[in-house]
Amino acid sequence: MSHNQEASIDTRCVQAGYTPGNGEPRQIPIVQSTTFKYATGPAMGALFDLEASGYFYTRLQNPTNDYVAAKIAALEGGTAGMLTSSGQAANFFSVFNICECGGHVVASSAIYGGTFNLLAHTLAKMGIQTTFVAPDCSDEELEAAFRENTKCVLGETIANPALAVLDIERFAKAAHDHGVPLIVDNTFPTPVNCRPIEWGADIVTHSTTKYMDGHGCAVGGAIVDSGKFDWMAHADKYPGLTTPDESYHGIVYAQKFGLEGAFITKATSQLMRDFGSIQGPQNAFYLNMGLESLHVRMPRHCANGQAMAEFLSNHPKVESVSYPHLPGDPYYELAQKYLPNGGCGVVSFNVAGGRAAAERLMAALKIAAIETHVADARTCCLHPASTTHRQMSDEELIAAGVAPNMIRLSCGLEGTEDLIADVSQALDQV
Ligand SMILES: *Cc1c(COP(=O)(O)O)cnc(C)c1O
Repeated sequence: MSHNQEASIDTRCVQAGYTPGNGEPRQIPIVQSTTFKYATGPAMGALFDLEASGYFYTRLQNPTNDYVAAKIAALEGGTAGMLTSSGQAANFFSVFNICECGGHVVASSAIYGGTFNLLAHTLAKMGIQTTFVAPDCSDEELEAAFRENTKCVLGETIANPALAVLDIERFAKAAHDHGVPLIVDNTFPTPVNCRPIEWGADIVTHSTTKYMDGHGCAVGGAIVDSGKFDWMAHADKYPGLTTPDESYHGIVYAQKFGLEGAFITKATSQLMRDFGSIQGPQNAFYLNMGLESLHVRMPRHCANGQAMAEFLSNHPKVESVSYPHLPGDPYYELAQKYLPNGGCGVVSFNVAGGRAAAERLMAALKIAAIETHVADARTCCLHPASTTHRQMSDEELIAAGVAPNMIRLSCGLEGTEDLIADVSQALDQV
């Protein structure tokens, strides 16, 4: 049986991407080498012409990374994948690979702050404009966001930290009606809980730093192509894929590498070559160790998140709780549709008593550690108003959708009773 596409998600987590031959290492080899040796100049020249596949320099590609990228592509049900140095690099490459100066992006406004900054500020300096729409905007509002020069639509399956669930089918249909692909950042649910390609997404991105690694040890990112978007059918919009690349002797990516390979080959041969945001092979090895247990860990993160959300929603000192799998949550219906087995372990809640009460609660927690992180084995929490958003006044915070008394709690893999007891004793001190 192939470990790649036919096997269950569990078997793919453990075995996809690398199949050792006779006498070869059981665990993926860490190819800790910047360069690769060739017998003749012409043999190496063929690699530079993209006539032969192989490795020549780890700024572009490395075998360890490719084993792990192939596993993530198999998990998402895509045709090709690549690892990047971070989730930020993955989202940057996925957009910049098809959208250049003069282009336009439609993005959900409920996205990670780093991705918001990338789109609203850094890409804007490069001549790429973004129109943000609320994930629950009307069809008319979504329609009105598109322009003639729109090149892609971007959203997050479960937004960090807003915990809004994207209606992937609706956004995919709007994108396809305008002849552009949908890019979905699937970091929070991971392919164990949602595979956006099955709902119409064309490109999937990840911050592998979060649940995929899952142990808080390696920053990284990944991009997976569904192989479904027909670049040639929209050739006028995507000249980078459909007209000759003079930096590679005039090859046309969409013709030479087809639907299944064009996007990732272009991102590797142009963007990795020129920006060099590759994940180190040692980090790729750690990432693979995390992936081997992802299907076992995710249900536990979700069970702890669900139990915590239910506990908090019944507590008199808690004003409100956001968790898409909590009945009554605005995203409950979408969560049931897209995430029937659970979403993630991140819960956000507002403590009664304002900013000071939230600060007291944070100080009283014993198991949950204060960290700028989410989605690893150890429970951690963040009070945005006193950390990531501390420059803002209470009024500015509310305008940005971050209440001064909001706490984001990422439930790890510890015992459920212990986590609830910790938050309970901390609430008693508020
Ligand atoms: C953390 C995160 C990112 C950025 O990833 P890094 O690995 O920190 O660069 C992007 N998207 C989402 C949804 C995230 O949670």
